[in-house]
Amino acid sequence: MKNGQGRDSHRPLGKADLHIHSLASDGLNSPRQILDYVEEQTDLDVIAVTDHDHVEGALEARELWEKGHYSFEVVVGEEITTLSGHLVALDIKKCVRMFQSLEKTIDDIHKQGGLAIVPHPLAWFSSGLRRWRIETIMQQPVAQRFDGIETFNPSFAGRQTYLEAMALAESLGLARCGGSDSHSLETIAQRAPCFLAAPGVNCTKPCWIARRKLRVSSGSCPHTLLLQCRRQCAA
Ligand SMILES: [Zn+2]
Ligand SMILES: [Zn+2]
Repeated sequence: MKNGQGRDSHRPLGKADLHIHSLASDGLNSPRQILDYVEEQTDLDVIAVTDHDHVEGALEARELWEKGHYSFEVVVGEEITTLSGHLVALDIKKCVRMFQSLEKTIDDIHKQGGLAIVPHPLAWFSSGLRRWRIETIMQQPVAQRFDGIETFNPSFAGRQTYLEAMALAESLGLARCGGSDSHSLETIAQRAPCFLAAPGVNCTKPCWIARRKLRVSSGSCPHTLLLQCRRQCAA
């Protein structure tokens, strides 16, 4: 246990906030402020910095994390403006271009080994992907589909569609995840989703996932990612 909020690397259930904005787009805080806040004020095990159409903030956060001694993991992400609405990329290395088709954007994310996550689905704003568009993608070959869907996004865009998003995730068999969609420090970790170590894995430390190892959980937390350990854990 490293901080005052009770982060415990041995607990089976971890917490991730996979949707945070920094100064690199329309967030109010620098990557360093975000990292320090997460370390001191939350019990998160994983965060993703996901700025609109930029990765500078996420790369800076990752760089700071590598040099520092933070007790959580930082994932490089981006919230990409596609021609059909927003799409979150997780675990990428470089910026994915904006204003491309949804199909091309997903392809670009996957080519980098990243995950394509639908943020605030069905949101009443134009930024949320429409149901028919999500369903069209899920009829594509597996490698060209989404990897997960935010069933909880506490922003104004995501709040109204929670139940619909849950039902959609269930019907499409999509891994459920969530993020705070924070643009300021105080909302980070707000209703952050939990994740569990994959069954049969002796997980000694919460860690990030390998693509395609994401699974829908039957655990009690409705926003659960099953995480397969990629380090320290024997399969
Ligand atoms: Zn968005
Ligand atoms: Zn966002």
